[in-house]
Amino acid sequence: MTTITAEIEEPPSERPPASTFRERIWEVLKPTQEQWDDWKWHFRNRFNTVDKLARVMPLTEMQRKQLQLVSGKYPFSITPYYLSLVRKDDPTDPILAQSLPSFDELLHAEITQEDPLHEKDDSPVVGLVHRYPDRALFVITDICPLLCRHCTRKREWDGGWWIRQKPQLEAGIAYLRRTPAIRDVIISGGDPLTVDNDGLEWILQQLRSIPHLEMIRFGTRFPVVLPQRIDEGFTRICDKYGPIWLNTHFNHPNEVTPEAGRAVRELLRAGVPVNNQTVLLRGINDTVETQLKLSHELLKNRVRPYYLFHADEVRGTEHLRTPVETGIKIIEGMRGHTSGLGVPTFVVDVPGGGGKIPLQPNYVLSWTEDEMMLRNYAGRIFHYRNPRPAKAKQLPVVVAA
Ligand code: SF4
Repeated sequence: MTTITAEIEEPPSERPPASTFRERIWEVLKPTQEQWDDWKWHFRNRFNTVDKLARVMPLTEMQRKQLQLVSGKYPFSITPYYLSLVRKDDPTDPILAQSLPSFDELLHAEITQEDPLHEKDDSPVVGLVHRYPDRALFVITDICPLLCRHCTRKREWDGGWWIRQKPQLEAGIAYLRRTPAIRDVIISGGDPLTVDNDGLEWILQQLRSIPHLEMIRFGTRFPVVLPQRIDEGFTRICDKYGPIWLNTHFNHPNEVTPEAGRAVRELLRAGVPVNNQTVLLRGINDTVETQLKLSHELLKNRVRPYYLFHADEVRGTEHLRTPVETGIKIIEGMRGHTSGLGVPTFVVDVPGGGGKIPLQPNYVLSWTEDEMMLRNYAGRIFHYRNPRPAKAKQLPVVVAA
């Protein structure tokens, strides 16, 4: 049996806060504070061409070529807010690495897949993925404010931007209505919060009219990449049609900003629990230190670290994937070293529609009917009595005279 032992890296020595692109973006785009606080302004001013990006960020000739070539297959889109978090002096900046195309995206086509999770095979109607017995995924748009380089649905990026029209939404809602086994629906995308509040309210109203739907969740990266989207209109409808849950997707502690914290607070005030699903990414968050820091920042903001996903085997993302054991080592380095609330469940979503499989370090060294040999977080070994129900005693049979 191989035991994987994690080492916790020393935290880097304190450095002064790095300068970011925020100032340059303000200089060039000249927003008013009101515009900066308006998510639609950020959406309209996304950086999605080489020329737009070059206005705020110095690009070498090679970088221009890279962007032009790769974005022909996999486009890019970065909100001014998210780009404003990039540190100027760091070519390996974790925000930039998640948002800027790389030549590597064009490699490894032979060992990866467009749709490794076979979502299309599990779609009884267009836009609805029904894989697990009691849950369904309702995909209402393919639009996202940020095109994350590691996206599982990268295959959809060349399909044109769409928001599902009412007849298609109604077909999905009708399926949910006639399938009482489904008690939990996740509204997803793309990013579902690209749909405006009126559109979302109509969907929530329809879903709430289905008596067997106990849970409604949003899967959205807006609190991370454009937290201005969490506005009064959105929290009002969450409150009105609640209980609503929200799963978001922070990957690095640098993303947990005061703006993101405000968005989470507004959600919590409206009674929306916020859970985080991190994707494990090579060179971005693949150390114990980064994951611990991320968990602590999330907990400070009352966000629960829920899942740590091993990155899916998606075409165009292989360069961002780590060995599976990296995730197990990270969990080992976290468990016992911080509160259990801060330790996400590490999962692999297996290709072919097998679903999520949790993986964790091996703490059970041996196991018999009577005893378990267990290893604690610090490597100490303990014998633990395995309780068994007492066997019923055979009473003597007394025969009446
Ligand atoms: S927000 Fe989600 S769906 Fe959109 S690009 Fe990023 S990972 Fe993909």
